[in-house]
This record gives sequence, structure tokens and C-alpha cells, in this order.
Amino acid sequence: MNPNKIQQLQLAPDIGRQLKEQALQALPEECCGILAGYLAGGRMHIRQLLRLVNVAQQERMANFAVADADLIKAARLLRQQGLELLGFYHSHPFGLPAPSRKDVASCNGWDGYSHIIVATDGGDRTQLAAFITQRPMWKRIQIQGAES
Ligand SMILES: [Zn+2]
Repeated sequence: MNPNKIQQLQLAPDIGRQLKEQALQALPEECCGILAGYLAGGRMHIRQLLRLVNVAQQERMANFAVADADLIKAARLLRQQGLELLGFYHSHPFGLPAPSRKDVASCNGWDGYSHIIVATDGGDRTQLAAFITQRPMWKRIQIQGAES
């Protein structure tokens, strides 16, 4: 994917709510998963979330990792549904909706994919931000439809 062409993430109805719900449910740990949908008109249209288990070995309050086997299974499921894997999401239980240095390092190899960070204040307030994964720093892009 060419990250320079993507300006916006368009969320299908209910996706914003699901992201917030998952982030709150996972507290105090980070939730994570896949953003799936299709590309059209310079936008990524997110139709579906595939929640993945956070398999980080330690400090899941500040780390996330996904298992290769889960990723392969998810990719197969999406192919069957005619959807593309467009990116990932994870939450920051007590942080800002901005990628950490570790986030940027761990998504090495996924340049050009999207990434949503859901930040919570540890309570029920959430903030979403969307990015295109690239180095040395992710590019922030607009997010539409988050308030449904
Ligand atoms: Zn993070």
C-alpha cells in the first residue's frame, strides 16, 4: 500500500463504539486487533474489527503483541469474506492516542497500513486517533465516523 495516497479512515457505523468498548473492557491491559475493509477513493473503509488476544509476555498494561497463528487465521477469514486486512488497532489504557517508540518499532514491516490507537483515562473516557504506519514516525490521518 502506498501510504501517501491514504488521507482518511472511514469507519462503518458502530466501529467507533466497538473500539471504545473493547478498550474499556480490556482495562487495565491493552486490547488489540485487526482493521478490515476495503480501499476506495483514497480512503480506507473499515467495515469490521477482528479482536486478537494480546499475547505480550509482560506488562500488557503497556504492551501488545499478536500471535502469528492468530494473524494467519484472521487473514484467511477475511479472504473468505472478501475483506482486506487494512491495519491494526490497540489501546493505551492510561495514555495518549499517540504511538510510543515501541509501537513504531514493533510495527516494522507493516509500512503503509493503518493503525488506530484508542486512549482511555483508565475510566470511561476514550480518544481515538488514526495513523499510517511508516518510519521514522507514523503519519496521523483523519478519522471519520468515530462518533457513531
Ligand atoms: Zn501503544
